[in-house]
Amino acid sequence: CVLLYALSILLAGGVAQVTLALRRRAFAAGLALLDATRHDSLTGALSRGYVTELAQHDVALARRHARPLAVAMLDIDHFKEVNDTYGHATGDRVLCAMVATCRHALRASDYLGRIGGEEFVCVMPEAAAVDALACAERIRRDIATARTPTDAGALRITVSIGVAVLDGTYDTWEALLRAADSALYQAKDAGRDRIVLATA
Ligand code: GH3
Ligand code: MG
Ligand code: MG
Repeated sequence: CVLLYALSILLAGGVAQVTLALRRRAFAAGLALLDATRHDSLTGALSRGYVTELAQHDVALARRHARPLAVAMLDIDHFKEVNDTYGHATGDRVLCAMVATCRHALRASDYLGRIGGEEFVCVMPEAAAVDALACAERIRRDIATARTPTDAGALRITVSIGVAVLDGTYDTWEALLRAADSALYQAKDAGRDRIVLATA
């Protein structure tokens, strides 16, 4: 009886340990999966889905407390030429370097998401037009002055940026994004490497 009792205690301990290890592994896998859905695997910027989730929440909060919020949409100028001239791997390196430069230029409370191939969006809670334009200019300038090393020498890129601020006209995340997108295309039409503020 004593032997059986001791064996059953040992067995129960073993089962508990295995269960704990499996639970830990499942928890870690769940976290890794969550992280993968929230981030772009190439650049580490937030994924489109996650940036939308965060921004919708921040827009609702800003509206409720009548606080400012701004969005800047960025698109690399003539990026197809970078790929065509230097290869896709260099294009990838340029994208990663650009994201690092943007992050450096943003405030800690701002965040950056990749919403398309070479299109990114910066969400700036508590930023009025003047702050958002200053931040966009910092990003534009830092990107234009940075150099990405390639086999063919240092490579310079520029970005065009459309900025939109939360107001009576653009009062939802979707409206802000549309306004920033159309301002971005005005920046492209006006010659690229510049910033345009969306106006109603
Ligand atoms: P524009 O100044 O008008 O924006 O011109 P563009 O060449 O940047 O725009 P276009 O839309 O013609 O080309 C975008 C290019 O971005 C084409 C596509 O292959 C490239 N691209 C998209 N995603 C990636 C990626 O993850 N890695 C690399 N290397 N290239 C990408
Ligand atoms: Mg482009
Ligand atoms: Mg584009």
